[in-house]
Amino acid sequence: MTYVILDLEWNGARSEKLGGYFNEIIEIGAVRLSEDGRIEDRFDAYIRPVVSRKLTRLVTDLTGITDDQVKKGVSFGQAMESLCRFVGEDAVVMTWSNTDLTVLMENCRYFYGDERIPFLSAYLDLQHYAQLRLDLGTAQQVALGKLAEQLNLNSEAMELHHAIDDSVLAAAIFRRVYEPFSFKKATLAVNDEFYRRLTFKPTFIREIDDPLIRRADLRFSCEHCKRNLKRVGEWQFQHRFFTATFRCSACKAEYVGRVQAKRKYDGVEIKKRLIRKTAEKEQETGGAT
Ligand SMILES: [Zn+2]
Repeated sequence: MTYVILDLEWNGARSEKLGGYFNEIIEIGAVRLSEDGRIEDRFDAYIRPVVSRKLTRLVTDLTGITDDQVKKGVSFGQAMESLCRFVGEDAVVMTWSNTDLTVLMENCRYFYGDERIPFLSAYLDLQHYAQLRLDLGTAQQVALGKLAEQLNLNSEAMELHHAIDDSVLAAAIFRRVYEPFSFKKATLAVNDEFYRRLTFKPTFIREIDDPLIRRADLRFSCEHCKRNLKRVGEWQFQHRFFTATFRCSACKAEYVGRVQAKRKYDGVEIKKRLIRKTAEKEQETGGAT
């Protein structure tokens, strides 16, 4: 089994064809690792942009890449052909968060009319995996440079975001966190479902009688006597929340109940909040279905 860590730099370009914004890849960097984490080979290519030949100030400041450098680069198609050969077959491809992956898909869609990535058969989000392995949780994404610093990994002379340097740095983190069993478990097979999941856009449910919201999701109980509260007004939808007034028939306390229903790829995530109307006390509950 071989591992490949991929890192991209891109430029924000205004596309006439798309009538909008396009993340045009200008550099691809990658390292291929042996099973024990040694770097076996490196890949680095500048890509000559065609959608916008001018790099934004932000990109130049962040990466140090200049208009002249990318002008001498290869086409996206040539870079992808070389990269396919570099990755080879059956490699587990990793990126630091799946943002690079979605940008690569965006470029494949633009240049090939197909968003699937030709060399991708197995994938692991190294950022997500590293955060799990280091018990950092996954609610907040940790930047590559910041984590490397925390782990005392030498990142001198890597002030700028060059794709190849970021790949090398990510490889150092890989060596720290790699453990065969958990790694295998976190590796995803790349198939139609993989792409559907990656491109799924979560939405907030706006209709209170949507069948995806269960009746139990809309019930609250009194903070004091634990009795079920009675809803005394209609549900209103505002700021992504359903809101209604509730009253306890026993102790007469009044509340505002708020429910948020977010449709995700794996189901609906419900967030509930009960706010006491008379006192300033709040109770929070939550759960996912
Ligand atoms: Zn009560």
